[in-house]
Amino acid sequence: MILILLGAPGAGKGTQAQRLQASHGLIQLSTGDMLRAAVAAGTEIGLQAKSVMERGELVSDDIMTRIISERLDQPDCEKGVILDGFPRTEAQADALDSMLSDKKMALNAVIEMKTDDGVLVERVTGRYTCAKCGAGYHDSFLKPAKEGVCDKCGGGEFSRRSDDTAETVKSRLQTYHNQTAPLLPYYKDKGILKQVDGMAEIDEVTRQIEALLS
Ligand code: ADP
Ligand code: ADP
Ligand code: ZN
Repeated sequence: MILILLGAPGAGKGTQAQRLQASHGLIQLSTGDMLRAAVAAGTEIGLQAKSVMERGELVSDDIMTRIISERLDQPDCEKGVILDGFPRTEAQADALDSMLSDKKMALNAVIEMKTDDGVLVERVTGRYTCAKCGAGYHDSFLKPAKEGVCDKCGGGEFSRRSDDTAETVKSRLQTYHNQTAPLLPYYKDKGILKQVDGMAEIDEVTRQIEALLS
């Protein structure tokens, strides 16, 4: 199964992708996480991506397409994947179509997580993750059961993204509306676009996605 989660920054893509990974054994492919790993490792792609990400703009379609194509060739992806953060432009969507047909893979569904822009700054600026296992949390909306201790792995160190500032969210949101939102009619025309209410509580969004998949 190949699923795309499509939504604005802070819509809940990563949160739901982590749950689908756990419940369905799918592999979460987060292009944002891959780029942050490349930045941290100081690779050539990382060096090119760093300033682009800090400005809330998009890394080039060529780089992104190459990263995803190589990742899809890894054997673990045979179990099925959730694309979290890719495609983000029509050029990436076209490239995805042709790489999937080359690889004899098929796209099952595109799930739009619909949100109002007004909630996204608070979502993004309150976001943090476990430094050890990557589990996602929020200052107000998703706290660990015991303060300062990761529910998933017991880790006590957390990190915040340097691009999760109110300022950057505004430019990322503009980028989303200009370059990524046009993918909605693109997939609607193909008859594979589905929607969930990204404004609902996290567990309710999970239920809506599960209902679509069953
Ligand atoms: P968000 O949580 O805002 O959806 P991501 O973690 O998916 O953010 O992405 C962080 C940044 O990485 C983006 O603002 C962009 O600069 C870059 N990025 C991630 N995925 C892509 C992609 N498919 N194409 C171009 N740039 C990307
Ligand atoms: P994305 O990957 O789309 O950028 P995330 O899944 O990282 O978004 O969610 C952004 C922040 O908002 C996280 O801190 C997460 O815990 C929180 N969050 C996710 N979904 C919801 C929701 N439905 N309601 C409230 N907060 C949410
Ligand atoms: Zn953890």
